[in-house]
Amino acid sequence: MQCQLSAHDGREHFGLLNDLGEYGTALWLRWREKTDVDLVVLPDCPVVAPGPDGEGCCLFAGHLEQHTWEHNLEEVSCLS
Ligand SMILES: [Zn+2]
Ligand SMILES: [Zn+2]
Repeated sequence: MQCQLSAHDGREHFGLLNDLGEYGTALWLRWREKTDVDLVVLPDCPVVAPGPDGEGCCLFAGHLEQHTWEHNLEEVSCLS
């Protein structure tokens, strides 16, 4: 499982497990160390890119760092 956030300083990492199909929520795996892992249901990030065709963010509400639509062409995911 790879953290979905772009490179970040925090020690808490998040990997998307599954889009629940329920509107606006998804199941995430959250971990700090390899032995400290939680399953959490989080609401989707409501922030969309500016502009008429604003792309939605694929992360959860309140995440750290950049929204997914802010990533440059070279994707910089956190590899921890
Ligand atoms: Zn991370
Ligand atoms: Zn976002």
